[in-house]
Amino acid sequence: MSTNRTFTMIKPDAFGAGNAGAILKMIEEAGFKLVAMKITQLSGEAAGKFYAVHQARPFYKDLCAYMSSGPIIAAILEKENAVADFRKLIGATNPADAAEGTIRKLYATSIEANAVHGSDSDENAAIEGSFFFSEMEKVGV
Ligand code: GDP
Repeated sequence: MSTNRTFTMIKPDAFGAGNAGAILKMIEEAGFKLVAMKITQLSGEAAGKFYAVHQARPFYKDLCAYMSSGPIIAAILEKENAVADFRKLIGATNPADAAEGTIRKLYATSIEANAVHGSDSDENAAIEGSFFFSEMEKVGV
């Protein structure tokens, strides 16, 4: 069953470049409601846990180093069909392949430093949201 929620991070490259505000504006203008949001920084260990599913991939170590290299924004978003619509809004993993007007096309600098994260399923959206937010925060305001 769809929960109408997804989870996102504005990654260290986009946050560090001062693009968080512009990206949040695009997210809100696309109809997503901010349910919970925080500025935080992942430790290397926490990034390793978050991306454990990619443990066997050759870029895992680099990805964990990059994701813990600076502050990020973590947020839970709500909208009908949130997971699929958000993946459409952010565009392909590699900005070179991302469609015009997508967040990654506009703000990503490489396949690794690709500006934003978006959950790939309702199940992962719930798991990822719970990684960052308490039950109370997930209720929203
Ligand atoms: P996503 O769902 O579009 O974020 O893509 P994946 O789940 O496949 O990968 C997770 C993250 O790992 C991506 O968002 C990138 O930051 C990074 N990544 C993916 N593929 C590569 C790659 O080939 N090289 C490097 N260095 N990083 C990658």
